[in-house]
Amino acid sequence: MRTRKGVTLIELLVAVVILAMFCVIMIPGISRIAHRAKVAGCESNIQKIEDAMEKFKQENGSYPENLKIIAWDTTYFPAGPIVCPFTQKEYVKSPAEEGKVDLTEHDHGST
Ligand SMILES: [Zn+2]
Repeated sequence: MRTRKGVTLIELLVAVVILAMFCVIMIPGISRIAHRAKVAGCESNIQKIEDAMEKFKQENGSYPENLKIIAWDTTYFPAGPIVCPFTQKEYVKSPAEEGKVDLTEHDHGST
């Protein structure tokens, strides 16, 4: 009987097809997890900024006029201004609600 060494083209194709199917199944799940992680990161940023505005108010008697005043202040943000993980833009203070971040037009899309 002849002994075989290596893999045949069919075996290779089967392996490639299985890997391709695996990728097709996994990629949407992975991107959904990445999306959720970014949303959580953004929510955490918003909380940090609102906490910083609260801290600013305690020290200065009123909320900062805009976020640029505190964004570069290392007392509030030691690592520099915080940006949304989706838009890479700095956050804006809510014009209506004191001490809140403006979330109008702050859309992350859906996944
Ligand atoms: Zn965001």
